Amino acid sequence: MAAVGANSQLNPLENAERQFEEAAARLKLEGGVKEMLKRPRRATIQSLPVMMDDGTIKVFTGYRVQHSIARGPAKGGIRFHQDVTLEEVEALASWMTWKCAVADIPFGGGKGGIKVDPRGLSMSELERLTRRYAADLSDLFGPERDVPAPDVNTGEREMAWFVDTYSMHERRTELAVVTGKPIEIGGSQGRREATGRGVMICVEQMCKHLNVPLKGAKVVVQGFGNVGGVAADLLAECGAKIVAASDVSGAIHNPDGLDVKALLEFVKDHKGVLGFPGGKALTTSIIEYDCDILVPAALENQITSENAPNVKAKIVAEGANGPTTPDADKILEAKGIWVIPDILCNSGGVTVSYFEWVQNRMGFYWPETEVNSRLRQYMEKAFLDVLQTGVKEKASLRMAAYMVAIKRVLKVHQLRGMYA
Ligand code: GLU
Repeated sequence: MAAVGANSQLNPLENAERQFEEAAARLKLEGGVKEMLKRPRRATIQSLPVMMDDGTIKVFTGYRVQHSIARGPAKGGIRFHQDVTLEEVEALASWMTWKCAVADIPFGGGKGGIKVDPRGLSMSELERLTRRYAADLSDLFGPERDVPAPDVNTGEREMAWFVDTYSMHERRTELAVVTGKPIEIGGSQGRREATGRGVMICVEQMCKHLNVPLKGAKVVVQGFGNVGGVAADLLAECGAKIVAASDVSGAIHNPDGLDVKALLEFVKDHKGVLGFPGGKALTTSIIEYDCDILVPAALENQITSENAPNVKAKIVAEGANGPTTPDADKILEAKGIWVIPDILCNSGGVTVSYFEWVQNRMGFYWPETEVNSRLRQYMEKAFLDVLQTGVKEKASLRMAAYMVAIKRVLKVHQLRGMYA
């Protein structure tokens, strides 16, 4: 993530609040009702002492924010990153509330984070840190309370440690406390690919609506990781041409199209895209690269008022959370670029997390074909709901998605009523 510094355009919480305020104004929400929907229900800061391999003790800072528990348990990932702040986690938690509501799955929104660069820790140090975090907040978590999942720099391995720690405290195995687990301990088929698959379905639906062919379309993927890599692979299978890709190692390009399968293999062995023999190193901004579809699938604040005027794509498909600042949004809108907003575009991950939670609670597991076809149903419905609202309200897809989501959460508040 770019440094926040004095530039408030790059503060994710301010950005999330600006987006919410704009949608709330369109919905004519005011006063306490607006406040209730906007503010997080609960936010915790933890000091996490961990014994390092050399015997010294290091204290890390962890966060968990439950933005909403109106529609169901709080739901959202845990990220490990050196730039994590409470404000960032709060923004991400609110995006989860709106995302789960757009996807129409029975969850609220939450997010967690630990301020740590995981590359600087050994595997056993990471395990102790993850377990300490899970144990410290074990009262807060639970299948009916708050259900974490992977996010930036966390994955199946961390979720397995999480399940084990929570289960030891509960004195019984509780698989439904987190999603994104390894298949062997209650993970769902298709969960690993779900976010990227959802991005592909959104892009496909967008192209259908705009009547432009996906076959032959030039695609740029910023963040060739779990989301971007899978999206690239599936879009290439639809006939799109992936012309540039980047990750922490750097960026590469090939105007004739990168061999995505070979690139995925290369990344596994080399821990990054840089040096891939089927492409050349790219030294200019990947966001401004000539293409039809841009998939920002890394971190927040990648498309800003500085580079937005130079975006060449006709469609921006937000695989990441919060990759476009509100100022940049206005610029893209004025240029006639269609932005498929994060809370719709990357909702495939949490949708299959929902399927995983359902399967854990049933104790009955679905084949991948069933997971994928249910995911498609949810994504197509969410896309249509947002598109129709956008057309009706003459609003961008982001505003439309917010409006759909806020209305759904508000309805539940109205039905449940006010306690005491
Ligand atoms: N971290 C993912 C997201 O931002 C997945 C969350 C989940 O599955 O709960 O949507």
